[in-house]
Formats: sequence, C-alpha cells, structure tokens
Amino acid sequence: MTTQHTQKPIPVPDEASAPFFDGAKHGKLMMQRCKDCGAWHHPVRIYCDDCLSPHLAWQQASGKGEVYNFALMHYVYHPAWANEVPYNLTVVKLEEGPVMETNLVDCKNSDIKIGMPVEVAFVKLSDDVTVPKFRPAKKR
Ligand SMILES: [Zn+2]
Repeated sequence: MTTQHTQKPIPVPDEASAPFFDGAKHGKLMMQRCKDCGAWHHPVRIYCDDCLSPHLAWQQASGKGEVYNFALMHYVYHPAWANEVPYNLTVVKLEEGPVMETNLVDCKNSDIKIGMPVEVAFVKLSDDVTVPKFRPAKKR
C-alpha cells in the first residue's frame, strides 16, 4: 500500500493572487478594493462588480466577519481528509462585504452557528503558502 495522494493539495499562487498569499504569509488578510467607489472584492477580479472600474488596489481587510453559512462534510472526497470527517466548510461574510469560503478552526463543529462573530486565523501549509481560515472572535 502506498501513501500516494494522502497529502492535502496546497494552493499555487499565481500572478493575480500573489498579493493575497503574500499578505497571508505576513498575517494580513489582503483583498482588492475599488479606488473609484470603495467596494471590496474577493476573490481576485479585473473590474469592480459595483461600478465596473478597472482601478482596483490591494488593501488590508479587518479580518473580522460572521458565519454566513456552513456545511459539515461527512463524505471523504480526498484521502487526505479521511481522518478529519466530518469537517466544516464555512462561508464567512466579512465586515467589508465580500464572502469567503473557508474553514472554522479552534471551534467544535457543534458550536458553529450562523451569525456567530469570527476573526481570521492564518494557517501555514508550507514554507511558501499560508492561508486565512477563521475562528470564533474573541470578546470585543
Ligand atoms: Zn467600484
């Protein structure tokens, strides 16, 4: 028996997403923001969804939001997750407006509630790639 395919796939940053991953490596949640109307965007795009401006710039987001929706995954779609089912797939609505697909960490699945406040928690996957996940927010 081989252990092939048991490592989790790691995102490969490209030119467009490099600022997002560079920020994550340094503990910053970076997102694009429209220079013309101020709307925030995630994931990466070429034009502002709100005003169609091509003038988007990278800016650090607060890293705060709330659980918008979630699902508990019981089926093993990839062998690397075999020991983690059921795991959560969570959609977080950020304070800035965009939603982000992620996982909640430092939280039992049974404690996840829609609307619960969360904050970003960076998880290092390799020397080159760190990804933002979210955990229950500390009392504010
Ligand atoms: Zn805009």
